[in-house]
Amino acid sequence: MITDRWDRPLKDIRISVIDQCNFRCTYCMPAEIFGPDFRFLDKEELLTFEEITKLARFFAGHGVEKIRLTGGEPLLRKDLDELIRQLNDIAGIKDIALTTNAMLLPKYAGKLKEAGLKRVNVSLDAIEDEAFKKINGRQVAVKPVLKGIAAAKKAGLQVKINMVVKKGMNEDQILPMAEFFKQEHIPLRFIEFMDVGATNGWKMDEVITMKEIIEQIGEHFPLEPADAAYYGEVAKRYRYKDSADEIGIISSITQSFCSSCTRARISAEGKFYTCLFAEQGYDLKDLMRSGASDEKIKSEIKNIWLQRSDRYSDERTEETVRGKKRIEMSYIGG
Ligand code: SAM
Ligand code: SF4
Ligand code: SF4
Repeated sequence: MITDRWDRPLKDIRISVIDQCNFRCTYCMPAEIFGPDFRFLDKEELLTFEEITKLARFFAGHGVEKIRLTGGEPLLRKDLDELIRQLNDIAGIKDIALTTNAMLLPKYAGKLKEAGLKRVNVSLDAIEDEAFKKINGRQVAVKPVLKGIAAAKKAGLQVKINMVVKKGMNEDQILPMAEFFKQEHIPLRFIEFMDVGATNGWKMDEVITMKEIIEQIGEHFPLEPADAAYYGEVAKRYRYKDSADEIGIISSITQSFCSSCTRARISAEGKFYTCLFAEQGYDLKDLMRSGASDEKIKSEIKNIWLQRSDRYSDERTEETVRGKKRIEMSYIGG
């Protein structure tokens, strides 16, 4: 196990497997910027499965036990189940999860589960078609996503739902979403709209805060706080008083959690980021392709983590947000 200078251990990695997506969510990949002329990474620029597995093995050697695959839309990466199989064989890796918009889960859920995937987090920001169509930028109705969720459950995968809440976009969907997923007994997690990337025009007054979300739901379904399931859990959990179901809130804006942030990120082109809001990543693909020895790569990963001093969300002000040249969410994967 290695810890950074603020004593935060490196425990999990998020790996983006592709920067492309079949949605254009307005808060993540606005269609006016990610249009037909937008240049996504070429195939040769993406890490191969062998390279991803090699890096994951080095991270596991430093104590990482959890891997989450993300994107872009990770299910657009061909043969993703093969990658999961390779990752699952790494000694020390106990948990592999996936974040997805669920559109392709009916096709792949069974294969993914067979390959060793345990959990999926499905992103769904509204339960009513009109609102959802506007948000996803592709006029997709809610039903295909619900079919994806059903396919994941049928395959035996654990499912959680992620909903980004943004003022003027979907705050009217908070309660209908809570009600729907309470009935389905699927944990729902609300995410405060974040200033990731430089294209989503983030403003503080567009954030619906954790407090507002809890109050809105609590008026209809009384809630009580629940303990964190493990050190570094990013969602603050609440249980419904009348059932065993729960919700979580990822309050990166109003109650940041940098002091227990244990997560590294690898972009689809192999850059290693120690913070979601980093301006620069360290090019591990270049290092691997230039023939560096395994020992060298492993020690570089260690050095980068040891020197890490990121506390972006703790230090966020309107000023820091304006001045920064941040990487896009679709590139680093959340
Ligand atoms: N395409 C997959 C999906 O949507 O689940 C995986 C990649 S997506 C970038 C990962 C997560 O980031 C999703 O839950 C998405 O809602 C969230 N996200 C994207 N932009 C965000 C923003 N500006 N603030 C908060 N969450 C955001
Ligand atoms: Fe695609 Fe996920 Fe971004 Fe939506 S949030 S545009 S599904 S990468
Ligand atoms: Fe971790 Fe950076 Fe997010 Fe803070 S802002 S919790 S350091 S990723």
